[in-house]
Amino acid sequence: MRASAPSQEEIRRQNLGALLRFVHERGQISRAELTTELGLNRSTIGALTADLTEAGLVTEETGRETGRAGRPSLVVRARSETIFAYAVSVEVDQIRVARVGLGGVLLDQRSAPRAREGNDVISPAAAFITELTGPGRCVGAGIAVAGMVRRADGVVQLSPHSGGLAGQAIGESLRERLPGILPQVAVGNVADLCALAEHTRGVAAGCDNVIYVYGDVGVGAGIIAGGRRVIGHGGYGGEVGHMVVNPAGRACSCGSKGCWETEIGELPLLELAGSTDIGHAAVLAVVERAARGDAKAIAALRHVGEWLGFGVANLVNIFNPELIIFGGTLRDVYLAAAAQVRSRLNSVGLAATREHVRLRTPALGQDAALLGAAELAFQSLLNDPLA
Ligand SMILES: [Zn+2]
Repeated sequence: MRASAPSQEEIRRQNLGALLRFVHERGQISRAELTTELGLNRSTIGALTADLTEAGLVTEETGRETGRAGRPSLVVRARSETIFAYAVSVEVDQIRVARVGLGGVLLDQRSAPRAREGNDVISPAAAFITELTGPGRCVGAGIAVAGMVRRADGVVQLSPHSGGLAGQAIGESLRERLPGILPQVAVGNVADLCALAEHTRGVAAGCDNVIYVYGDVGVGAGIIAGGRRVIGHGGYGGEVGHMVVNPAGRACSCGSKGCWETEIGELPLLELAGSTDIGHAAVLAVVERAARGDAKAIAALRHVGEWLGFGVANLVNIFNPELIIFGGTLRDVYLAAAAQVRSRLNSVGLAATREHVRLRTPALGQDAALLGAAELAFQSLLNDPLA
């Protein structure tokens, strides 16, 4: 049976979504560029823009003179101040909440320390959202969590570092805690959402094959292959921290032995460096000690850098990415041990798969998790702007 052709209404909805997505990703874009990018004629672009303007999603203003003959093209901008999502990032040592405007604009944010294995993230998230309330229309919220998240319903699964969150439907709980405030709440893994944010408007914009390796105590990867997020059947893909790289190595919190994170995570680095502290500040202190010539800190970073390189080489051989991004505390570890990482990648990675790969730190820094969580929340608006 032949699939029926899409109706005029369906085509219009798709075009509205595509147009709004361009405006959202670029922040602002001229009508002339939209005409080229979307392959639609000027009057259609004009009509679609008028619909989005009337819905309060975008504004139009006269662009700068182009120097060419004729009127300058109108510039379409996202109404970032009044169309927004809340973004929550549940990290190992803190919880952060932001209000993010359409166009990926961080309007305001709050953070609070969080006890490791602490289980109540709903109360602080709800309190911050109430504080951050602003005028306009909220499209929902997105939550980034350092744990495995079931794709079907956003329930956090029992995983080594999700601790007290295991089994909780944190999205649904947050929505219920704030009745009438959040039309929808989506939940995703922090590495996946950092990758999404960097791909949408960061260092990976325009790259279709990207791996974002996020590390703190645990290590996970956000994978984009062929321009699409790869999260696996149940949503649990990208658990690269549990690739076994050293069967003779340390016991892992997952129950296995010699997983990648037992060589490159925060704990082995701090242990090797003789540090008794934990957390991002402790990792930065090791990097600083190494920069000052502390032999133990240098050796610890070298060890971690070598293992980071081994694992990255495996990922490069499997996915042949054009870009690897190091985020979380691995950003600082990578910067301090880039020579080891590159040298291991060159010795273990296949010449063809690593030929064009670039190793980078995030352009969005610590904001990637929040911006990625907001992206999740914006998806339904971008799919059907006038719904
Ligand atoms: Zn493991």
